[in-house]
Amino acid sequence: MIELHWTEVDHVPAVWADAGPPLRAGLLFRAGHADETLATLGRTHLIEHLAFSAMNDELHRHNGIVDATITGFFTVGHPGDVSAFLAKVCDALSSLPAGRLEDEKRVLAAESAARSRDVCSQLLMWRYGAAGHGLAAMPEFGLRMATLEPLQEYAARRFTRGNAVLWLTGPPPDDLRLRLPQGPKRPLPALAPIQDALPGWFVDRESGGMAAGATVPRACASTIFAECALARLRKRLRVERAVSYAPAVFYVPLDADTAHLVLCADSSQDRRAELSDAFGEVFTALREIDAAEVDAARARIDEQRTGALAPPRAERAASEAYRAALDWIFDKPFEPGESLDAQLRAATAEDVSAIARRMQETTIFALPAEARLRPWCGERIPGSTAPVVSGRELPHLEAPTERARLVYGPDGVSVVFADGSHCTVRYSHLAAALKYADGGVRLIGSDAATVMVEPTLWQDGRDACYRIMQRVPADLLIAYPARPADAIPVADEKVRIGNRTVLLIACALALMLLRWLLAS
Ligand SMILES: [Zn+2]
Repeated sequence: MIELHWTEVDHVPAVWADAGPPLRAGLLFRAGHADETLATLGRTHLIEHLAFSAMNDELHRHNGIVDATITGFFTVGHPGDVSAFLAKVCDALSSLPAGRLEDEKRVLAAESAARSRDVCSQLLMWRYGAAGHGLAAMPEFGLRMATLEPLQEYAARRFTRGNAVLWLTGPPPDDLRLRLPQGPKRPLPALAPIQDALPGWFVDRESGGMAAGATVPRACASTIFAECALARLRKRLRVERAVSYAPAVFYVPLDADTAHLVLCADSSQDRRAELSDAFGEVFTALREIDAAEVDAARARIDEQRTGALAPPRAERAASEAYRAALDWIFDKPFEPGESLDAQLRAATAEDVSAIARRMQETTIFALPAEARLRPWCGERIPGSTAPVVSGRELPHLEAPTERARLVYGPDGVSVVFADGSHCTVRYSHLAAALKYADGGVRLIGSDAATVMVEPTLWQDGRDACYRIMQRVPADLLIAYPARPADAIPVADEKVRIGNRTVLLIACALALMLLRWLLAS
């Protein structure tokens, strides 16, 4: 049994479990990207980088994270080193190093370029839009316009002693000081799904397979269900069908009661239709999970938690202290290991099957383009939640060959495509507007719908962009330099000339017909 001790350091709650030297510690703040807006996205990450930028870490003992709800600073070493590190972090957060601002923006741009696309984040974006947890999938648009004063002001509100918790693997060192400003604990971002008709799907051409994501209760039955789902995906997709290399399951807590559960599987492109069929078979069959399967999953979980595969005691002590700190962040009562064991034992096959059925009702599928649509997929999720706005309609410069049209009015902007589908961003739900010096304008709605208005593609397009920009609030506007010429789409001149020629011939024929009628 791991014993946890709670204390306080400079009014910051601190939890520790004895794991012996070296001392490991993590200072966590209830601040993450889900607290931001699309137009300011990236500032928590920038603050975290700035706090580290003054630090010399030749031994790579320090680390930091920013996720949806948490910013964390971690270290390991002698107690004196831990005190010195945490003191420097707190000092840097209270007085961000101005000289590093532009360099850290460039470092973050490099970090973002190296980051691979993550299907779990995409699923969150389709569920929550360009807000809250959905921001995980969005670019850090806020970095470009970030300046020191608003950053410092934001840090002073988020990185406070009331909004922080410390975990350690030994008692806090006597000389440890956490000099942080006063401030309250921040609430978790609300979970506000934007889709009301689920299950549903979108096409994902980049993650190399398919995935299914849903929200489930944070309960032992969900953990057992995740274990059962993983075992079935591996057995069917890898062992029996040999269609996938690494089926996986991800379980990420969103708040005290809710977790995001993602089932996914990769495959080679030529077998993705087969993959989606086999995945669908496994997914639908998960509605029924019997007691023997639950017992087997429970035994595997036990093996990893407390059995032969359990990590060494020191590591478990660190995990327990960290878990207690995370629960503090999530406003969740801490459950000791024995209580979790009892809940694991108490979960029945019916509890686990109920999680499966609940998941299936609210799933969003990231389908490969090759997938064959089946009833379990539900409906395609529209690219935007708002209807077409009313206002001025502009034809495409390649009309009538290209039948899409742009509509803009006092409420927003829509593009109506040739097949009748549309994408709309309303000004009342505008999350950010990107303005390029070459004239292009990109509007992104709070539902993550994106309308790109290219002056080079629409008749009177330059005037439309100008009028659209008049309606964008300054705090949502992000200015970019002109794009390279080859990155700006232009109407095909041959199509335009062809369309004009057809029109001229039609006019000439009509005139000839008219003259012939008048003459006869
Ligand atoms: Zn980073």
